[in-house]
Amino acid sequence: MRVLILGGTADANRLVAEIARDSRLDAVLSYAGRTESPTPPPIAWRVGGFGGVDGLVDYLRAEKIARVVDATHPFAAQMSANAITACALVNVPLLVLERAPWQRTSGDRWIEVDNIVAAAEALGVARRRVFLGIGRQYLDVFAAHPQHHYLVRLVDPPRAPLPLREADVIVARGPFDLAGDRAMLMEHRIDTVVARNAGGDAAYAKIEAARDLGLPVVMVRRPFIPAREKVEGVADVLRWLGHDLAPTDRGV
Ligand code: NAP
Repeated sequence: MRVLILGGTADANRLVAEIARDSRLDAVLSYAGRTESPTPPPIAWRVGGFGGVDGLVDYLRAEKIARVVDATHPFAAQMSANAITACALVNVPLLVLERAPWQRTSGDRWIEVDNIVAAAEALGVARRRVFLGIGRQYLDVFAAHPQHHYLVRLVDPPRAPLPLREADVIVARGPFDLAGDRAMLMEHRIDTVVARNAGGDAAYAKIEAARDLGLPVVMVRRPFIPAREKVEGVADVLRWLGHDLAPTDRGV
């Protein structure tokens, strides 16, 4: 059975690590190509957009894909919507691997907003020192709010000057930890964190660090994506594919 895994996340990487151990599964991992040097996965992989719904339909047919696992980031709404439509058109079952969103807990000072534009506006008119851990494609939105100082964390070094008037850049790839993110926020005298509700562990340290330091977090809610069959764990995906975790992972 040929399986297409839409990836670009730590969850997708965990899934392909398991699939690689099971010779009965013939799977290909798809990256959008946003990062310059994606971690080479232990299974077959491809890079780049499919060309919208039509392109994905053609790909599913040409590659004789029998199942699709959407393990993209919860904010990759376009890819996820395309997968729903394309899979319905060619009658290929689709499963989503998606971590639950973070929940506000005691001590959190969240200002929840619906999108990045609203997040930038929520910073207000008075100057702030803002940590942006949101990916480089959204920085233009903050360029319209030049009164703030920004600390931007990116996976790849920027190839061109950032569109921000005043910004420091940190190049780092997660997962991050509480001690490191706490120290970073203190060192740069950050007073506000902007985050998207990604869920999972890899990027949660900044939320914990903000809580620890009593800082507000402007939290962008997840985008709307039509209902799909969804699981949170790699083992659930393997079961859906008709396989199980290898004995060592079940503690046997
Ligand atoms: P998006 O807005 O939903 O996707 C835009 C277009 O990029 C899609 O229509 C598709 O192009 C292409 N694309 C996206 N994911 C792809 C994949 N896995 N394989 C092949 N093509 C893909 O997505 P995005 O927010 O730009 O995210 C792009 C990728 O980065 C995703 O794979 C996602 O898992 C990963 N990622 C995103 C975030 C985030 O915050 N959004 C964070 C971490 C990782 P075509 O229409 O041409 O097929």
